Amino acid sequence: MPVLPATDFHCHSHFSDGALSPIELLELAKARDVRQLSITDHDTVNAYSSSLYASAASAGITLVTGCEISCQWQRRSIHVVGLNLDMASPSFDRAMTIQAKARENRAEKITEVLQRLGFDVMLPQVQALAGVGVIGRPHFAQHLVATNQMPSMAMAFKRVLGGGKPGDIKANWPTLETAVSWITDAGGVAVVAHPMKYKMTLTKLRGLLEEFVAAGGQGLEVLTGYQDAQRVSTLADLAQRYDLYSSAGSDFHQPGQPWAELGRVAALPDRCVPVWTLWS
Ligand code: AMP
Ligand code: MN
Ligand code: MN
Ligand code: MN
Repeated sequence: MPVLPATDFHCHSHFSDGALSPIELLELAKARDVRQLSITDHDTVNAYSSSLYASAASAGITLVTGCEISCQWQRRSIHVVGLNLDMASPSFDRAMTIQAKARENRAEKITEVLQRLGFDVMLPQVQALAGVGVIGRPHFAQHLVATNQMPSMAMAFKRVLGGGKPGDIKANWPTLETAVSWITDAGGVAVVAHPMKYKMTLTKLRGLLEEFVAAGGQGLEVLTGYQDAQRVSTLADLAQRYDLYSSAGSDFHQPGQPWAELGRVAALPDRCVPVWTLWS
């Protein structure tokens, strides 16, 4: 099995919608024997400080700079993970500013929609929940639960914030092509995140991958959180078919979610070429 060392190239810190600080993520990763880690917050690389790289090194963990970028393809929201990014890239810095503005703008619209639906919500309350993190739909869900307007986060998504619901405002996300070019211009490797989460047919997914490859994308998340063997096999086949390097990540956000536990990532199938062979 080629997954050695233990790898987790997809997780979130409190700089987006995760519960833990980057240092806490590192500590948990160490406790779980993860040897290479990428913190891939939504549309921000604020988790990466020079002290974090130093802490990773002393914990014996290779820290790979990463980010999960929101974009759109054929009116669908798609997530592309950028790995091994050059943090000093001015163009990537500009891209992060664009994404931050898109998120702020979307948050204002989500607030208006929820108010119109009769919910009690003010943007500063939700911003306070996001804390140091970039604001997203989970913070709105959190507010609705905290104020007893929704019984659970899952229900908040199901009823108002999830795909196709009124609070699922289509932000001005960049195109897939633009997101990929932001990553490659910063010397990074673009990876399609959690390919099975988009609920696409296999034909659609192939269409996405064709355009992704044409745009300069090089990787596919063959392993993401908990996934049955059949899906892993389908994704490994797709990676082979499109000559994509394979990535592996938990999509961890917080402890207590067994389907997305930090470091609990299975081994890549033998026929997969690990994405990290591109830089290590
Ligand atoms: P955003 O980045 O603002 O579009 O929010 C997307 C995030 O919401 C995802 O990364 C998940 O962390 C979270 N999310 C999406 N769907 C659900 C759901 N049904 N229940 C709980 N969290 C969800
Ligand atoms: Mn998230
Ligand atoms: Mn995602
Ligand atoms: Mn994620």
